[in-house]
Amino acid sequence: MNDWIDETLHPDYRQRLRAARMIYDSRTDHQRLQVFENPVFGRVLTLDGVVQVTEGDEYIYHEMLTHTPLLAHGAARRVLIIGGGDGGMAREVLRHGAVEEVVMVEIDASVVEFSKKWLPGISAGAFDDQRLRLEIADGADYVATADARFDVIIIDSTDPIGPGETLFTDSFYGRTRQRLADGGILVTQNGVPFLQPEELRGTMRAFRALFADATAYLATVPTYAGGPMAFGWGTDGQARETPEQVLEGRMGAAGLTGLRYYTPAVHKAAFALPGYVSRLVG
Ligand code: SAM
Repeated sequence: MNDWIDETLHPDYRQRLRAARMIYDSRTDHQRLQVFENPVFGRVLTLDGVVQVTEGDEYIYHEMLTHTPLLAHGAARRVLIIGGGDGGMAREVLRHGAVEEVVMVEIDASVVEFSKKWLPGISAGAFDDQRLRLEIADGADYVATADARFDVIIIDSTDPIGPGETLFTDSFYGRTRQRLADGGILVTQNGVPFLQPEELRGTMRAFRALFADATAYLATVPTYAGGPMAFGWGTDGQARETPEQVLEGRMGAAGLTGLRYYTPAVHKAAFALPGYVSRLVG
């Protein structure tokens, strides 16, 4: 039985994944990093016992946290990614030819190095793109000191335990807000609201104080078990109202083909919230 990996995220609920082959298991300076092979999901990366990314379903998470804000914005040139060490978020952002610069601030250089080596299909060359600038730093320190402004900011964090905890605080959100250009959009990974209601409630409380349009949208990612996962959405602009036909046109203009989850119809539907999520959003 010792080839089964128990995910340790929740105290009273667990999922188990079989490690048909353990590829790497060691401590980085910041967290425990494991990469193993699972017959259903392909290679799986965990940090401190929590699944971060799998080859099998990463596209859902990455497509929804990139194309949703970028296509709704319509003219994004500069994008900031906080976290994102596996490179999947950068890969999807860089598919937008109009994007001129992506700054990615990841705390743990080992995640980048191991993902390049063991999960090369996830970054798919993004780390070699001249438009990407990788900074190894705490995202909270970066937003407190940087003076650049971005059209879209994506928080691709771990859960609010360990190094990711600071990325869920009111002060972090307030400083990140200051890094947005006019009409800019902030999106965040906010866990699975059925199992982690306080995570979404806390982020939304902060967003309501910061943005004219503060809400969440949803996607179902199989390895983030327990129901749909939530993404935070904050902006002062009208981007959420962008009609489906306009999204369709922007998708074509950006040459985005072969997506496996995102469609303009899914984009619009993702903002329809069930009652229990709507109450957390407030
Ligand atoms: N998709 C995953 C999930 O929702 O479970 C998260 C993706 S993983 C790429 C998140 C990344 O955030 C990790 O590489 C981790 O090292 C990084 N990270 C955690 N805390 C951070 C911080 N304070 N500043 C910057 N990056 C951080």
